[in-house]
Amino acid sequence: MADSALRIPSVDRLLAAPAVGALIAEYGRGATVAALRTRLDELRPAVLAAGRVDAVAAPAGANAAAQAGGADALVDVAAELDPVCLARTIGQRLATLNAPRLRAVFNLTGTVLHTNLGRALLPEAAVQAVVRALTTPGNLEFDLATGGRGDRDDLIVDLLRELTGAEAATVVNNNAAAVLLMLNALGERKEVVVSRGELVEIGGAFRVPDIMKRAGAKLVEIGTTNRTHAADYENAIGPKTAMLLKVHCSNYAISGFTHSVSIAEVARIAHAKGLPAAVDLGSGTLVDLTQWGLPREDTVRDTIAAGADLVTFSGDKLLGGPQAGLIVGRADLIRKIKRNPLKRALRVGKLTLAAVEPVLALYRAPELLPQRLTTLRLLTRGQAVMQEQAVRLAPLVQAAVGEAYEVSVVPMFSQIGSGALPVDQLPSCGLAVRAAGKARAGRALGRLEEALRGLPRPVIGRIGDNALWLDLRCLEAGDEAAFTGQLPALSAGLREVRQP
Ligand SMILES: *Cc1c(COP(=O)(O)O)cnc(C)c1O
Repeated sequence: MADSALRIPSVDRLLAAPAVGALIAEYGRGATVAALRTRLDELRPAVLAAGRVDAVAAPAGANAAAQAGGADALVDVAAELDPVCLARTIGQRLATLNAPRLRAVFNLTGTVLHTNLGRALLPEAAVQAVVRALTTPGNLEFDLATGGRGDRDDLIVDLLRELTGAEAATVVNNNAAAVLLMLNALGERKEVVVSRGELVEIGGAFRVPDIMKRAGAKLVEIGTTNRTHAADYENAIGPKTAMLLKVHCSNYAISGFTHSVSIAEVARIAHAKGLPAAVDLGSGTLVDLTQWGLPREDTVRDTIAAGADLVTFSGDKLLGGPQAGLIVGRADLIRKIKRNPLKRALRVGKLTLAAVEPVLALYRAPELLPQRLTTLRLLTRGQAVMQEQAVRLAPLVQAAVGEAYEVSVVPMFSQIGSGALPVDQLPSCGLAVRAAGKARAGRALGRLEEALRGLPRPVIGRIGDNALWLDLRCLEAGDEAAFTGQLPALSAGLREVRQP
């Protein structure tokens, strides 16, 4: 009797079932078999227990209830062993296992170039170029004019020269790599002079003194944290000096009783001694941002024109391109940098070059940048537009989060992010969500933040001043339906996290 009741089916027989066959077609035989075995192992104790209950001789009295429970379990286990049910269970597991770990999110943090969320979003022209580079061979290092070997930097050098006024250029993995390479190529076993006020740490563990050490250059600190003068540079120059370096302060600002020496002045001092002046610009923009009401930031062209011999900057900050480190400047220095073996180790791949080229090309028509360059389009979104959007979304979000929260439309300030212009903030608009009750408001906000993070496309906001802030600057019209489409899931998610 027990024998006829339940038995673990053989893996071979299950693999022949159409539902399991569909999984093999999608996930491969090995992964499907492994998932199947795991599931059968999980069910084995229940199968054995059910068999035992079944085998008990017809009981009387006290045992009846236990046996009824056993019979239910038997039915459940039998259902679980059905090939269709098994396929559904392991299909869900295989899907979860194969889901990408790098997921799309909504960046409602108010920080446009958010390093943890991937910084700049590529414009369409760059996306298409990347897809082409991924799927077709290209002349990455092949000179189509001569049929000989080419240099991958040449794909973008002319554009960089045109847009910055520099003589030459090269490109590496990111700006940290650009600084490392520049310091190693020109400053190894020599001294590099930097103002104390510029010995910065940029988020993500880029510290000027550490990079300097790794590059084999000796840091010569001059001036004080708040004040450095021309004489400090002049006095620091000796027989071992390789260059004077200026570093953009990026993510912090010193104010009050301060003095720093301009790039033009540092360049003049360096040139008088036959030394190069280098500038790590960090964000490095190619256009004057004030024409769109954005804060002023030195352009790469300004910096070159001021006399800098080398300038390094990031590809995925204000430039609005992919992660990359660009070095522009004097031809003889760039040649030296390119000959350094680190250049080979830090070189960019074809995807980066494919994306950088069309992004740079957009700068040939600066007046069209706010439409074409995603980063600038987000940075220049009008507050009125975002306010209309907030008014539209507020009742929908309120309905989704329920009476436990109060949703309001509020003006707020966005940040450019990634160290650009940390002090200046951009007038924006969005939603502030507060817990309706005073008691345990912090926990209620925490739950909401968690539910937003748990959505199929997680929504990342910012908690502060007893509210959850959803800045709408980076929620463009085209994304709004995807956002509102998730609101039912938000309600469901909130119910779930509410039950401990
Ligand atoms: C951001 C930044 C860096 C690092 O650039 P990555 O492209 O992130 O490597 C270096 N220096 C300055 C001044 C920066 O602002």
